Amino acid sequence: MKAEIYLDGNATSAVLPAAVAAAAEAMSHGFGNPSSSHLSGLRARALLESVRARARRLIGSGDGELMFNSGATEGINTAVLSALVHLRERRADGQPIGRWLLCGATEHKAVPESLAHWNRLLGLGLQIRELPVDTEGQHDLAVLRALGPETALLCTMAANNETGVVSDLAGIEAVLAGTTSPALWLVDCVQALGKMPLNLATTRIDYAPFSGHKLNAPKGVGMLWVRRGAPFTPLMVGGGQEAGLRSGTENMAGIAALGAVLEALEDGSFHGPDVLVCLRDRIAGSLRHAFPDLQFNAPIARSLPTTLNFSVLGLSSEDLLNVFDATGMRVSAGSACSAARTLPSHVLRAMQRPDWCSNSAVRLSFGPSVDVETIEAACAAIARCGEVLKRGVCAANALQDGVLQWSDGVHCGWLVIDVASRSCVAIDPPARLVSGIAESVRAQGLTLLTTLGTDNDTEAARSRLALCDALSDVCITHLGADALGWPTSDETFGLTSSVNVSAVRLGCQLLVRLPASDGHVAYLLGSTGKGMTMPDECRFAFIGTVAPAAFPDGLFGPDTLLCPSRTKGAALPATTTHARYLLQTGQPGAAPQQLVAAALPAFLQSHPQALLIDVRDAREHSAGGGLHLHGWPALNVPMAALTAAAERWLHGERRPILLVCRSGQRAEQAAAWLGRIGYAPVWHLVGGLAQAEARQA
Ligand code: PLP
Repeated sequence: MKAEIYLDGNATSAVLPAAVAAAAEAMSHGFGNPSSSHLSGLRARALLESVRARARRLIGSGDGELMFNSGATEGINTAVLSALVHLRERRADGQPIGRWLLCGATEHKAVPESLAHWNRLLGLGLQIRELPVDTEGQHDLAVLRALGPETALLCTMAANNETGVVSDLAGIEAVLAGTTSPALWLVDCVQALGKMPLNLATTRIDYAPFSGHKLNAPKGVGMLWVRRGAPFTPLMVGGGQEAGLRSGTENMAGIAALGAVLEALEDGSFHGPDVLVCLRDRIAGSLRHAFPDLQFNAPIARSLPTTLNFSVLGLSSEDLLNVFDATGMRVSAGSACSAARTLPSHVLRAMQRPDWCSNSAVRLSFGPSVDVETIEAACAAIARCGEVLKRGVCAANALQDGVLQWSDGVHCGWLVIDVASRSCVAIDPPARLVSGIAESVRAQGLTLLTTLGTDNDTEAARSRLALCDALSDVCITHLGADALGWPTSDETFGLTSSVNVSAVRLGCQLLVRLPASDGHVAYLLGSTGKGMTMPDECRFAFIGTVAPAAFPDGLFGPDTLLCPSRTKGAALPATTTHARYLLQTGQPGAAPQQLVAAALPAFLQSHPQALLIDVRDAREHSAGGGLHLHGWPALNVPMAALTAAAERWLHGERRPILLVCRSGQRAEQAAAWLGRIGYAPVWHLVGGLAQAEARQA
């Protein structure tokens, strides 16, 4: 297995070996309940209090309360509940409480969600307002100045989890003081602990939540600091643990582990800010070198020395992440929570970063326990990713005859390539993908014969023009073509009729136009046969938005790939007449079979004819240095090239196919689609390469 270079520390971090040992000790010999009065209990209590004392020193707790809990989400909810219960009581007493629950625009979702939840549940009806940030991610102090006098609760963070931007807490405090604001103040300190100095008791902060797993302790342990005298309502009541502030038997394994981490922090075993800045600068330099078009999404000088958020023009977050992942480097597109939901970053939006930056954003983060070897390995991996992406092994991968799918999730375009003549034709290129298609055509040294449309939609016409413009130096027909891009003269290249151009020849392939209903046209692609105006056998039909049923029976073969211009939510939207028949007659098609990683060696032995297909993007495939599983080489057929490959497989000897990808998701989609169009037998590897490579190690 490739060595893992873990650089997603803001999402979570590896548990420190000393913390693992401390947790194990707390679960074995020191398993006592700190509330028990016998010796086992007293030992556990001593440990609990020693960890608390250390934590208090490290955060400058003063005489504030510090309670252990399950993590920052609990701490945030407890703080919000406490503040809001207090506000409700004050209002019931007839005292003014202000109007706003003011929340920084770049807060972790746990904060605005808690505000909305408790505001509704307590029936407070206060207004939740966003405190905007500027383009550098700093809170807008002018807005705070204006709203301060009417703010009941202010929530800001010490450092942002997506960008690492460090907030100007002193500036915020000065505004609160200057406006004699009555606001209670919650500061999310999750990303700050261990990475910047904290001295809570010397500030006006009322509540500060912390999370263990962001700093090499296990998940499920955290802390909440509460200023002495700040309003407090327990979120959990029961046995009265934690001096009644947070009931429930303490998570002693987690607390012991956190204690070991805090000990390492206190005794200087972790890197200090100066070293972290050097390590961060080393990575930033590698990134700049590997990706000259890179932009950082936050000012480095005002960010944590452990976080870099960047975008590369022309590459999506997914492109970058997949290639990084293939080299063994674990980074993320933003916060771990939004990564799972694939939402655009609210943080970058609040900072008014251009759309392309949000779409391309990558967060690279590490912690103060990072070792220099990891940073060196990361720099080497970054250089390798830069090379792979520069080589332009775009979706098209190794130049191959065929049809490439370009979809943006809604629209779907197709690029028909003929290697021998180094020519291609684009059909229905989606607007958002024009620059990618142009780059791919150029990188492969292809000539664009023409860009065709299947209907008169104006948006689509605009993207066709944009593609012709982007490739004007390698595009032949942009002058001699009709409104749908069909050539009107055959002077310059291999068109087959001199008067009315009825077919476009791409090497041995022939593309003909077929009028469909309501001004729509379809294009049929097959090999040139006897006739020069109709392909011998129609292998692909580009049907735009026309329903397959609208074409005359018998026009297409059972396995002709019908390629639409809309995805209707499908990753692989092409269909066949046979697939439609299976659907209409209630036959589900061949069900793809799941293969678990443990069964892979046996499968490969018992299916010597099997094709092992890696459906990852070509760049991911080559960034990982190709793919061999248990000695078997995998063939790279990215999702974009699968329609063309399926057409070949359907007409071939039907070897067993095993599909693999990174997480197993794309392979599962591809397997289901192959099953639907009637290809069998197909397997997909459950859990993806992550599982298989781990077993191979
Ligand atoms: N606040 C910030 C800034 C975070 O980064 C996170 C975790 O991603 C949280 C709160 C939630 O922390 P926990 O996972 O401990 O609930």
